Amino acid sequence: MTSDDYLVAFDSDGCVFDNMEFKHKACFVPSFIDFFGLQDLPLQAREIWEFVNLYSTTRGINRFRGLKLSLDLARARFAGEGVGAERTSTIPPSPDLDSWIAGARHLSNASLEEEIGRSGSEELKNVLAWSLDVNRRLLEGSPQPFPLAARAVARAREGARVRVVSQAPGNALRRDWGAHGLLDLTEGIFSQEDGTKEDHLRCLLQQTPLPGDRVLLAGDAPGDLAAATATGVLFFPVIPGAEEGSWEEFLHEGLPRFFRGAFAGGYARELHRRFEEALPATPPWEG
Ligand SMILES: [Mg+2]
Repeated sequence: MTSDDYLVAFDSDGCVFDNMEFKHKACFVPSFIDFFGLQDLPLQAREIWEFVNLYSTTRGINRFRGLKLSLDLARARFAGEGVGAERTSTIPPSPDLDSWIAGARHLSNASLEEEIGRSGSEELKNVLAWSLDVNRRLLEGSPQPFPLAARAVARAREGARVRVVSQAPGNALRRDWGAHGLLDLTEGIFSQEDGTKEDHLRCLLQQTPLPGDRVLLAGDAPGDLAAATATGVLFFPVIPGAEEGSWEEFLHEGLPRFFRGAFAGGYARELHRRFEEALPATPPWEG
């Protein structure tokens, strides 16, 4: 066996890079409040955004899907009794966003710009302005990899081909992976512009035909596990809130098992059980 016989794909945000808290708390949340008229209920807006994008089964979702889910949850929450009932009318429906998300092949700024060119939708112009504002805020961060994650990427490269699969924009990924000497360890990056994680893995398997038990995806979101399951490859979870322990596990147990063909089965099931326990499906305010 050579390093061409194995492939390890790494998700970036919240997996290799310790940037999810900064991204969402310092960038997405303030822009969400500013661009969607939520200034009167900033605490609830923050709680909704963080539930959807950080602390639930939809963690790591594409930003536009995360926006739609957050707006839907905000409408449902504020329409109920108690807090903010009077604010229902100020969160208008978003039919253009909903239909773009339902129909678009890729959900990125570029494809949103194309849609605006076709439809001239004012609603979508606001979504694009929000997304660009988020990118502007993100530029102010300097994401660091989890210390053991950088070592894990290097260790994986010793025995396998390495790729990045992420829903972040490609330029941000090249910046972050390049700034820490990790880009040279990879054979390339799949980003937001290349479709969903499942698209990425299918494309990868086409370019590098390998049996599913020779391909391992490391990720921190249930969507990563779903993409791995759909494409028949192995999945190693980096558990939110326990990332360093997860990378320790990857280095000392997960990766060695992968290379010796002992990852699938009971070991993988136990990892996935621990991962699924860490993220709820129901918002705390509905519990
Ligand atoms: Mg992630």
